[in-house]
Amino acid sequence: MEAKITLLPGDGIGPEIVAETRKLLEVVAAKYNHNFNFNEQLFGGIAIDETGTPLPDDTLAACLHSDAVLMGAVGGPKWDDPRAKVRPEQGLLGLRKALGAFANLRPVKVFDALADASPLRPEKVRGVDIMFVRELTGGIYFGTPQGRLDGDNGREGFNTMRYNEMEIRRIVEIAFDLATKRKKKVTSVDKANVLVTSRVWREVAQEVADEHPDIEYEVILVDAMAMHLINRPADFDVVVTGNLFGDILSDEASMITGSLGMLPSAALGVPGSIGLYEPIHGSAPDIAGKGIANPLATMLSAAMMLRSSLNLDTEAAAIETAVSNVLNAGHRTADLARVGETAVGTKEMGAFVTMALENIQTV
Ligand code: NAD
Repeated sequence: MEAKITLLPGDGIGPEIVAETRKLLEVVAAKYNHNFNFNEQLFGGIAIDETGTPLPDDTLAACLHSDAVLMGAVGGPKWDDPRAKVRPEQGLLGLRKALGAFANLRPVKVFDALADASPLRPEKVRGVDIMFVRELTGGIYFGTPQGRLDGDNGREGFNTMRYNEMEIRRIVEIAFDLATKRKKKVTSVDKANVLVTSRVWREVAQEVADEHPDIEYEVILVDAMAMHLINRPADFDVVVTGNLFGDILSDEASMITGSLGMLPSAALGVPGSIGLYEPIHGSAPDIAGKGIANPLATMLSAAMMLRSSLNLDTEAAAIETAVSNVLNAGHRTADLARVGETAVGTKEMGAFVTMALENIQTV
């Protein structure tokens, strides 16, 4: 297949981890007879420095003319001044909006070899494989009215949590679609005992569930879910929820793995739209340029990209198997290594995964 992939390395460790992932994708292309055309573009802080804006027109045009977009990370102390008019994160929000990306997919998978890295006991986390589906463009982060005023009681701030049927239905449908290809279970998280918005969410989610009798369906209140994620994380398959709850719960769930450098994500719109793939971690300015960043979250994001945007399931699984094999062989970057274990650098880790992928038998 021919595919156009826009690469947005961004800031901090972004260029280091994206470079390794690009090499891996080149090996995927050669091994499975594809032609990936990469187009690397400025994005984030570096784009502000060079063009004055975090999402230059050329970058946006390249993204809109590609089959998928793979990003490293943006931001860093240089651009963190709260008084600055332009900020790297504005580029990310602008890009998500331009791509119509309303669904944030965040898989939380514990690799057996890393079960000891979790702050939870290994027997609790072994086998954890959750797909978080968070609504990304609605809810209290965007609902109006919102603002601040100076009233009789001093300063006051307000936001509005609202969701309409269309917004709920399309995100819940994504969750059910994903569950079909996984363990066939969907958990919808809300706060229907208190919030009217959640009661509408629950009604619509139930209607979608009724259309999928083959999928096990449950609803859990958000406060209870915060506990269940710690107590019985291996019980969940696909978890769908709104913007605010998803933001908090997916960060909580990511810590189950104990390793930020392992977690990929995708931001998707309606079927057929251009997906944006990125590791969940930031630009890690504290280790940028040292050659020690973990490239695995970006490589696993590339696997999500192959599966979701390019329909290349075998190739995606090959990347995941290669990562797993490398971890089983004991190779660790500094963020994963325990006391006494030798750590490898970004390039070495990249080379190990590439080699492991080359060694996977094709049928
Ligand atoms: P961070 O995720 O960049 O780093 C947190 C800690 O995890 C650091 O100690 C870092 O060294 C470590 N870490 C992160 N990724 C790693 C990797 N791949 N390998 C090894 N160690 C890794 O979070 P932060 O320090 O809060 O944010 C730094 C900058 O990144 C900020 O400017 C923030 O706004 C930005 N940020 C960007 C994104 C994004 O691009 N989507 C997401 C989060 C934060």
